[in-house]
Amino acid sequence: MGKIYYKTESEIEKIHQSSLIVSNTLAEVGKSIEPGITTVELDKIAESYILSRGAKPAFKGYRGFPGTLCVSVNAQVVHGMPGLYKLKEGDIISVDCGAVLDGWYGDSAYTFAVGKISDEIKQLLKVTKEALQLGVNAAIEGARLGDVCSAVQQHAESHKYGVVRELVGHGIGRSLHEGPDVPNYGKRGNGMKLVRGLVIAIEPMINMGKKEVNQEDDGWTITTKDGLPSAHFEHTVAIAKGKPEILTTFEEIEKTKAAQL
Ligand code: MG
Ligand code: MG
Repeated sequence: MGKIYYKTESEIEKIHQSSLIVSNTLAEVGKSIEPGITTVELDKIAESYILSRGAKPAFKGYRGFPGTLCVSVNAQVVHGMPGLYKLKEGDIISVDCGAVLDGWYGDSAYTFAVGKISDEIKQLLKVTKEALQLGVNAAIEGARLGDVCSAVQQHAESHKYGVVRELVGHGIGRSLHEGPDVPNYGKRGNGMKLVRGLVIAIEPMINMGKKEVNQEDDGWTITTKDGLPSAHFEHTVAIAKGKPEILTTFEEIEKTKAAQL
């Protein structure tokens, strides 16, 4: 786990600005999600949009990652690389994006539907997004980190879904990944106390089947071991009193056809 840094109000506002660029980027990408488009075309859309806003893609070049987006289709959980795969009707695609503006990072992910998807997969997306929201709701001043983790886990497992263990959410600020780790599983009342100044990315990765995952030979893509679909949603959140302060937003994303509500 990386070092934990507490942010000032003006620093939180800088993270907010880069987070909004990320949210708008995901909305731009969402507009273009339809059968026939390749994931590398989506990546280009994201890169040009981020640059047009005076920010830089956060993932490109991160430990050698080639893309602006992580694009993870169907059984791919996270960290899929943009490429020549053409989306087809019935696919789901997790689009994960980060941007850096004036040295401050924002990070968000949304799983979109390509055309019409099955009711079973629709339910996976719905529950994963709800799990994120429940985690976010628990991320308030005075709570414990474990309250966030267990809120996500309880909801996903109550639907008999698998909660990925190997990858976790994280603190965010001047680096894309800082402490604390934010697992999608844990116990209420455990872990560090949440205080103002802490900014975290909460990102449930929920599998329709079992929780186990593999890393592909490309060194990046994480895939479910049983080959069943996986969903991923992420918000960057500042800890605040009484009510969570979500720095990213799904509002524009959810005006696109590919966003399943
Ligand atoms: Mg992300
Ligand atoms: Mg993240």
